Amino acid sequence: MQENILKMLLKENHKISNSLKIDSTARFYIEVIKQDELIDLSKFINKNEIKYLVLGEGTNLVPPDFFDGIVIKPNFNDVLYDSNNKIINVGASVNWHKLVNICIEKNIYGFENLSLIPGTVGAAPIQNIGAYGQEVSNLIDKINCFDIEKGEFISLNNSSCKFKYRNSIFKNNSLLIISVDFKTDCKKEFNIEYNSIINHMDKIGFKKTNLSLETLSNLICDIRNKTLPDPNIIPNAGSFFKNAEVKISEIDDSEFSLDELIIWDIGNNKVKVGSARLIELVKDRIPKSKNVEIYKNHALVLVTNAYATQAEILDYANAIIKIVKKVFNIELQIEPTLVE
Ligand SMILES: Cc1cc2nc3c(=O)[nH]c(=O)nc-3n(C[C@H](O)[C@H](O)[C@H](O)COP(=O)(O)OP(=O)(O)OC[C@H]3O[C@@H](n4cnc5c(N)ncnc54)[C@H](O)[C@@H]3O)c2cc1C
Repeated sequence: MQENILKMLLKENHKISNSLKIDSTARFYIEVIKQDELIDLSKFINKNEIKYLVLGEGTNLVPPDFFDGIVIKPNFNDVLYDSNNKIINVGASVNWHKLVNICIEKNIYGFENLSLIPGTVGAAPIQNIGAYGQEVSNLIDKINCFDIEKGEFISLNNSSCKFKYRNSIFKNNSLLIISVDFKTDCKKEFNIEYNSIINHMDKIGFKKTNLSLETLSNLICDIRNKTLPDPNIIPNAGSFFKNAEVKISEIDDSEFSLDELIIWDIGNNKVKVGSARLIELVKDRIPKSKNVEIYKNHALVLVTNAYATQAEILDYANAIIKIVKKVFNIELQIEPTLVE
């Protein structure tokens, strides 16, 4: 693809689709269908020193009103199951929940607890998506990428990705994920230790003898549908803040006791503190915003009325961060990608 052809394929002033429904426009937008097209695209970006953003389904993004750069939308949709090598290779643009369903059909264990997480396969490793006691990093064998700055294709094995809680080397680097190789030989056992799964099973009288990949996935979908807003109806980006990782001795317990918080021991003298509970305890002190609020069923989720700008959302989030810091001495971190 030569530069003049590339320029023809670039769409100007294109909307950036995002689940917070921020009215956001990119100066340039391009859909990439063939891997080779990335080589010329990277030459163009590097030569013209244009900033870029790789876009999945926009469910974990806080984009600005105007993005003065190129939005790159990969369109790689292949799903290749290699039963001999026990790998399923999945294109970056495949919808995550669609992959979960494919795995359930093929009796592949490990994906079911991550049912109904919005977004694409290519975005899943970025923040190491996780839910109900499972993280995608436990399922990944290898990630196939293109380095936009170096103009090279590379593959990274699991340990090179440096996965952590809602983090990986893919945050803030120049790697575009083309496809992911997932392991298909995880242990054939169900992961139902998580409290909300146990409580939901008790509540609906679910018999463990009825457990299968499909029934567990359906249970998880039921729990999610009850607690999280559907972004197609109520604009949101899922959890807006990460759970906080701190030393227990640093938490200010002068106003609320530690028993009122949700705390998990994570070793190395550190604990993870449930940020939803922190926000819940102080939410009456957060100044009201015209277009943004805390979701009624889940205090970690900020929802909008589809009229909020990036600035309004960040002002509201920063007010929450300030109050939580003041009361608990805990610094909340924003989870979705802030695009500048
Ligand atoms: C209702 C709701 C519930 C959610 N629940 C959860 C949950 O339980 N657990 C959880 O972990 N997350 C959750 N999320 C967040 C979101 O679903 C995930 O972060 C998801 O992986 C985002 O996918 P996406 O395709 O929409 O990515 P986008 O929002 O388009 O992009 C997110 C980031 O990934 C980058 N990116 C996207 N594709 C690629 C690629 N191919 N190569 C390189 N970089 C790329 C983008 O540049 C951006 O930095 C939730 C979101 C919503 C709205």
